[in-house]
Amino acid sequence: MGKPDALSRRADHRNGASDNENIVLLRLEFLAVRVLEGVERTGVEQKILSDTHKGNQNGDQEEPIAKAARELWSSTNKAVHSLEWLNIDGLLRFRGKIYVPQSPDLRRQIVALCHDTQIVGHPGCWKTLELVSQDYWWPQMSRYNGQYVSTCDLCLQTKPWRHSPIGELQPLSVLDARWDTLSVDFVVKLPESSGHDAVMTVVDAISKRVHFILMHTMVIAEGAAQLFLHYVWKLHGLLKHVVSNRGP
Ligand SMILES: [Zn+2]
Repeated sequence: MGKPDALSRRADHRNGASDNENIVLLRLEFLAVRVLEGVERTGVEQKILSDTHKGNQNGDQEEPIAKAARELWSSTNKAVHSLEWLNIDGLLRFRGKIYVPQSPDLRRQIVALCHDTQIVGHPGCWKTLELVSQDYWWPQMSRYNGQYVSTCDLCLQTKPWRHSPIGELQPLSVLDARWDTLSVDFVVKLPESSGHDAVMTVVDAISKRVHFILMHTMVIAEGAAQLFLHYVWKLHGLLKHVVSNRGP
C-alpha cells in the first residue's frame, strides 16, 4: 500500500506539517540521569557523598557557577529556575550528576576510586573520565582527570609505549681529511644587529675550526645554501658529509 500523497489524501485531513508545534515530547527533567536513585552507597563512596554534602553546605568550596545555580534554585521566582540544576537531599546536581565542590582532596578521591582500584585496574584517560562522569561533575573535570591519569605512578611504570621505537644513535665514521666532514647548526632569533639576527656555524669535524656566518632567521634554504657556497665551499672545496640536526 503506497503512502498518501497530495492527490490521494482526503481534503479534510491536515497534512501534518505543524502537528508538533508547542509540544515537548521529552521534558528535560526526565532526561536527567538519576544514577544514584535506589543505589545504596557504602564505604569510600559513602564518605565521598558525605564530604560532598558538607562541601555543599560550606559556601567557600563552591565555584561561581554552583553558587549562581544555588541562587537560581533558591529564588522565589519559579520562572528563573534552572532545569539543569537540582538540589536533591542536600546534594547539588548538574544534569543529574552530583556537583563536587572545589575540594582537591575530594576530587582526587573520586578519580582515584575510578582509576586506582583493583576492580577498574588503572584504565586509560577516557575510560576513567567515563567512569567518573557516570555520577559526578565539576567544571574542567576532563582536564583534572587527564592530569591525574597522565601522572599516575603505576601507569607510568607499567603501561607500554604506544609509539614506534625510538631510533638508535649511529656512530660517525672515522675521519681522514680536513673539511671533508662538517657539522652545521643555526642559532636563530637573536637580538637584531646590522640586519642580522641569526648565525650559521660550520665546524670542521677534525680540526674543529669554525666559520660563523651572519644571516637572518627568515632566510630560506636556498639562501642558506648560497651563504654556504660563498663562505665554505669556495674556501675548502667539495666535502663528503654534512651533519646537521635542523634546517634553516
Ligand atoms: Zn594508573
